[in-house]
Amino acid sequence: MKINNEFRCSFPAVSANEGLARAAVSAFLIPADPTAQELADLRTVISEAVTNAIVHGYRETEGDVYVTLRMLPERTIYIRVADKGRGIPDVQKAMEPLYTTAPEEDRAGLGFAIMQTFTDTLHVRSTPGKGTVLIMRRRLGKTDEA
Ligand code: ATP
Ligand code: MG
Repeated sequence: MKINNEFRCSFPAVSANEGLARAAVSAFLIPADPTAQELADLRTVISEAVTNAIVHGYRETEGDVYVTLRMLPERTIYIRVADKGRGIPDVQKAMEPLYTTAPEEDRAGLGFAIMQTFTDTLHVRSTPGKGTVLIMRRRLGKTDEA
């Protein structure tokens, strides 16, 4: 698949860096001129993914979060968020709305549901003890010039 543009970064898994990931998505999307709604959706999506890596993946441990953003043909944005944390034993179960392993922290179990709602495709690959990779794609609407 042809890649029109790509941005990669990694940062320590601390919540102060969630805003960094949101800002990266916003900046990366500027040339594509997304709508305010698309921008808000995708900022939410990356926020949920990065928060999960930080609070679940690296729970009580340290490590880095790896983000790759790509602009693919047909105005499709690709977002990959990976961690080398503890992994997810049952991905299907984890993706069920309202499922959370951290109810005592007031987690709603809605992160995956939100990511699914705001993207066209969401793939999760996870190995317990090794980490988790999320790959999401969302096609942006047409611009006036297109
Ligand atoms: P919310 O996102 O609403 O605050 P949540 O994070 O628990 O709550 P989801 O984002 O849907 O809900 O994730 C569901 C569950 O999947 C989590 O409770 C956690 O057990 C597991 N999980 C998600 N991402 C990861 C990850 N990167 N590493 C390990 N476990 C994860
Ligand atoms: Mg979550």
